[in-house]
Amino acid sequence: MSKGTINVSVDNIFPLIKKFLYSDHEIFLRELISNATDATLKLKHLANIGEAEGVEYGEPKIEVKLDKKKKQLRIIDQGIGMTGEEVEKYINQIAFSGAEEFIEKYKDKNGKDAGIIGHFGLGFYSAFMVAEKVEIITKSYKEEPAVHWICDGSPEFTLEKSDKKERGTEIILHIAEDSTEFLEENRIKELLVKYNKFMPIPIKFGTKTETLPKPEGAKEDEKAPTKEVDNIINNPNPAWTKQPTELEDKDYNSFYRELYPMQFEEPLFHIHLNVDYPFNLTGILYFPKMTNDMSIQKDKIQLYQNQVFVTDNVEGIVPEFLTMLRGVIDSPDIPLNVSRSYLQADGAVKKISSYITRKVADKLKSLFNNDRESFEKKWNDIKIVIEYGMLTEDKFFEKAKDFALYPTVNNQFFTFSELKEKIKDSQTDKDGKLVVLYASNKEEQHSYLASAKEKGYEILLLDSPIVTHLLQKIESSEENISFVRVDSDHVDNLIKKDDTQISKLSDDEKETLKTFLDEIIPKEKFSVQLEAMDSTANPFIITEPEFMRRMKDMQKTGGGGMFGMGGFPEMYNLIVNTNHPLVGEILNTKTEKKKERLVNQALDLARLSKNLLKGEELTAFIKRSYEMIK
Ligand code: ADP
Repeated sequence: MSKGTINVSVDNIFPLIKKFLYSDHEIFLRELISNATDATLKLKHLANIGEAEGVEYGEPKIEVKLDKKKKQLRIIDQGIGMTGEEVEKYINQIAFSGAEEFIEKYKDKNGKDAGIIGHFGLGFYSAFMVAEKVEIITKSYKEEPAVHWICDGSPEFTLEKSDKKERGTEIILHIAEDSTEFLEENRIKELLVKYNKFMPIPIKFGTKTETLPKPEGAKEDEKAPTKEVDNIINNPNPAWTKQPTELEDKDYNSFYRELYPMQFEEPLFHIHLNVDYPFNLTGILYFPKMTNDMSIQKDKIQLYQNQVFVTDNVEGIVPEFLTMLRGVIDSPDIPLNVSRSYLQADGAVKKISSYITRKVADKLKSLFNNDRESFEKKWNDIKIVIEYGMLTEDKFFEKAKDFALYPTVNNQFFTFSELKEKIKDSQTDKDGKLVVLYASNKEEQHSYLASAKEKGYEILLLDSPIVTHLLQKIESSEENISFVRVDSDHVDNLIKKDDTQISKLSDDEKETLKTFLDEIIPKEKFSVQLEAMDSTANPFIITEPEFMRRMKDMQKTGGGGMFGMGGFPEMYNLIVNTNHPLVGEILNTKTEKKKERLVNQALDLARLSKNLLKGEELTAFIKRSYEMIK
C-alpha cells in the first residue's frame, strides 16, 4: 500500500468544484460513463490493430449499479483498465491538473456562465461533486496486478493492490449527504436516458423481465415463460451515425420516435447532415408540422458530442430560424467551454451554422423540384420556418427564391417569379409599379376579397404572423413592387389605373354631402372620403391604409415601434361611393332624422363587414335593424 498527496496548489479542490458547478451536478454520471466508453473503445482499437495480445474484446458493456443501503453508485467497464503507474499518472496528475486549470479559469466568474461551464467536461473529478469518497478498482489489459485507489475528497489518497480478476475499471462513488437524490433509481434512470441514450457501448442498468413465446402445445391459460435479461438503456447505433444510403424513410421516422417518444405526429421530412471537412458534423434534422404560433416548441434539437448528449439549447450553433426544427446534431468541433456570445463569433461555429442553413435550403429545393405537388401540400406546415429564415438570413433569402411559395386565396401556389409573370398585365399600376394584392384572412376580409376578385385580380393568402416584416423585405429587395392588402383601400384605388369614373354628383352636391357626413360621423375614428366608384360597389366602405396597418402589425410582432409604447390610434378611412343610389338618397332625404338613420345604418354595415362592430354598438345595431323591418 502506498499513500500520497496529490500535487495541487489549491488546498482543497473539491469544495471549489462543487461551488462552481452548482447547477449541473448531474453531469458527473455522463463524465464517468464517457470515460468508461473511451476505455472500452481504446481497447477495441488496440485489439483491431493487434496491439493487445491475448485480449478477448468480446461484447463489452458498461454497468451502472446502485446500492441504496450502502449509499454507493458504481460504474463498471470492461475496457482498457489502468496499471498502478497509470493511476498515478492519469488520475493523480493529469485529472487533477485538469480540474485545477478549470477552477483557475472560472474562479473569477460570478455564476453567470455556470450553465455553459457545466457542459465542459470536468472528467473524472466531477465525481466529487456528488461523492464524499471515491474508489477506483482497476485492472489493466496488460499483465499487471489490479490496483485499488481511494480518495476521500482531500488531496490525500491511498493506492494498494487489489485482487480484481477481470479486466476493466470499477468506479465506486460513496454518495454524499447532500446528493442522496443520486441514490434514487428513477433519478439515475432519468440521467442515463438524458445523457447516454445513444452512446456507443451498451449500458446496463439492472435487469428486466422479458416474455418468451409459449412452448408448442401449451394450454390456453398457461402463462408464457419469462426470462430476466439485462436492461440496456441505450441504442449504441443511432440512425445519425449511419450512412444515408443505409436508411429508409421508415428508419428515419422510427428514430424520430426514439428521440421524442411523446410525439405522435410523423415529421414532414428529414435532412441528413454529414460532413468531415473542414469540421466534423453528423446529424439528422426533422421538419415537424408547424403552427403559426412560434412560441410552441416543446421538443428541441439535441446537441451531442461523439454520441454523448450535451444540451438541447442549440442557440448560437444553429441559425435561429432553424431552432424550430427537431433532431440531432453531433459535432466534436463545437467549443462548449465558452459563453454563448463568444460561441457566435467563433469561426468554426459560423461555418457550421452556414453549412446547416445551406443543407436545409438544398433539401427544400430538391423537395420542391422532385415533387412540387407534395411540397405544396406541406407548405402551410413549414412556411413559418422558411419565412422566418428569409427574414433573418440573407443567404437563405436568396436561396429561398427557388422554392418559397406564395399561395393564393384559391389555393394555387406560385413562386415569386411565376407570380410576377402571372399578374404583370392586370396588376401593374399607372406608374409601372407591380401591385401584389393579398389577404390575411379569407373570412374577415371577405367583402374586400370579393370585389377584388371581381376585377380579375389574383390575391395571395398570407397569414403568418411575421408576414408584414417579410413583405417589407421583399419590397426593398425587388424593384418596383409593392404589396397591398385588399382591405387597405377601395377596389379602384388598390391598383391605380388611369381610367377615372365620372361622378353622378355635382361639386356642390358633394360639398353639401361632405359637410353633413362630417357632422355625424365621429372624426376621431373615421376620415371621410368621397369617391366616384362603380354604382354596384358598396356605398360605404371602411379601409385601413396599408402603411398604418403594417406599423400596427409590426408593433405586435416586435420591431417597428416608432410610436412608442402607446400604440396606434384606431383610425380608418370611410370611403363613400357617390355613385351608389343610397348615397343619392341620403343627400336628397328631407327629414334630418331619417337622413341620420340612413347614415348610421350604412356606417354600421360597413363596420360589420370589417369586423369592427362589437359589443354595445352591435346590440344597438341589431335592435335598430329589427325595428326597420317591422
Ligand atoms: P479526460 O477523460 O478528459 O482525459 P479524466 O479526468 O476524465 O480526463 O480522466 C483522466 C484519465 O484517466 C483519462 O484520460 C484516462 O486515461 C484515465 N481514465 C479515467 N477513467 C478511466 C476508465 N474508466 N478506464 C481507464 N482509464 C480511465
